[in-house]
Amino acid sequence: MSQSGQRRMGGQPLFILDEDAQRTQGDDAQSSNIAAGKAVTESVRTTLGPRGMDKMLVSDSGDVVITNDGATILDEMDIEHPAAQMIVEVAETQEEEVGDGTTTASVLAGQLLTQAEDLLEDDVHPTTIVEGYHEAAQLAQEAIDAEVLDVDIDDETLISVAESSMTGKGTGDVEAGALAETVVAAVRQATDGSGSTRDQIAIRSQAGASSSATELVEGIIIEEEPVHGNMPSSVADATIAVIDADLEVRESNIDAEYNVSSVDQLNAAIEAEEEELSSYAEAIAAVGADVVFVSGDVDDRVGAQLSKEGIVAFDGVDSDELQDVTHTTGASRVGSVDTLEADDLGEAEDVSVQKYGDEELAFVQGGASSETVTIFARGGTDHVTDELERALNDALDVVVAALDKGGVVPGAGATEIAIADHIRSEAASIEGRKQLAVESFADAVDVIPRTLAENTGMDPIDALVDLRAEHESEGIAGIISEGQTGVIDDPIDYGVLDPAAVKREAVESATEAATMIARIDDVISSDA
Ligand code: ADP
Ligand code: MG
Repeated sequence: MSQSGQRRMGGQPLFILDEDAQRTQGDDAQSSNIAAGKAVTESVRTTLGPRGMDKMLVSDSGDVVITNDGATILDEMDIEHPAAQMIVEVAETQEEEVGDGTTTASVLAGQLLTQAEDLLEDDVHPTTIVEGYHEAAQLAQEAIDAEVLDVDIDDETLISVAESSMTGKGTGDVEAGALAETVVAAVRQATDGSGSTRDQIAIRSQAGASSSATELVEGIIIEEEPVHGNMPSSVADATIAVIDADLEVRESNIDAEYNVSSVDQLNAAIEAEEEELSSYAEAIAAVGADVVFVSGDVDDRVGAQLSKEGIVAFDGVDSDELQDVTHTTGASRVGSVDTLEADDLGEAEDVSVQKYGDEELAFVQGGASSETVTIFARGGTDHVTDELERALNDALDVVVAALDKGGVVPGAGATEIAIADHIRSEAASIEGRKQLAVESFADAVDVIPRTLAENTGMDPIDALVDLRAEHESEGIAGIISEGQTGVIDDPIDYGVLDPAAVKREAVESATEAATMIARIDDVISSDA
């Protein structure tokens, strides 16, 4: 391979790049980066809002994902271009920070790039664009603060927030409203004294029933079946042991088989084995456990004996599930049955096993130690439950964001109209060409209401004009999706609310990515 780096030849600095290296500079670098960023954004634009369409993504191996979720689409798309990859990161950051608004953030980033391209063509210097964008983003944050509703974040508000995030998502045959109630109930129940904790809420999906069968389970659900067919399928007021070991004959006894030289010795070895096996079941019964979760294998004879004692045992339980069990029931994990004591046991109001098609699920409800809850998501097929799970995840995140991260703002594009309006009115006092960049930022923010209008089937230009007029006269105006069409009205009256944190994060991450891309004037890649 040839060397890269700087060398001197005849006093002239010279870059020697790898022969495969490619270099794009100046305007070319900018426009190709911007084009790539915009192209990625275009791919998610039509999914925005309640009337947004879904995408079907097919992987190399033929796996199909059908989704409306911006972050999922971008994640599945396998994007290679480095600038385009930065838009994907916008969606990822948005997902990590607030859990929703991924399409909004990437559409905004793409539009900021489009506006930057126009500014560059008009000879506005990239650093002026960057400064102007940062100043405008600051103004946007001010506008968001001013839009935060002065209301109690009560259940009704939270249900509206959850429903707004799920409307138009693949919720199967069930109305987003009913699911929103389940989501809010989950957040309300999952408390550990210090407020709501997102970690305490799990989602478990299972195909084979209508989405309306989705329910809240006060505990955890794990994919396990009892080791023995005769074990009880339900235990009330269960006392629970968690054992991180095998309940099998230890190696040394198996070796003994090869060393026996007489029938007596063989019988003795078998007896020792039997004894060891029954000591497991006896110890478990003696300590008072009636449900056992085991990480390793459970010998059939141990299973049979436990079953005779009326004890339910699950084997091969993975580490995460064991942790969930200990967390919710208060049991401690023990490394062997010999050390199992009453102190190590946990409690739950109910442990039951239910069959769903080929699978069996164990429900551990009313655990003594924590208020962990699980949303048991049902749907006709795996594709439905997968998308439902994503919608529920978004809804849980927005409810937690509204509760813990600074309230709610009107949705349906109303907050964006207010942001653009505020930026435009402040732009007048900004000197020089930076003013152009600030105004362009406001124009970029319009892409959200414009896209909502487009996806609802309205004329986007007329809708924007009407929206601004309505905002001027009424203070709040959004594009509400009503049945087949859109109406321009106050989103609060329709319960269309988004967490303020989603808007704040979208402005921040979109600005960051767009300014970063605009500032690049040289792309050097080591292999073409
Ligand atoms: P994102 O990935 O950005 O969350 P969504 O497809 O979830 O994208 O769309 C979110 C946008 O849809 C928000 O601006 C929200 O206010 C808006 N929205 C939600 N419900 C409605 C509704 N009933 N009418 C109009 N807009 C709505
Ligand atoms: Mg959303």
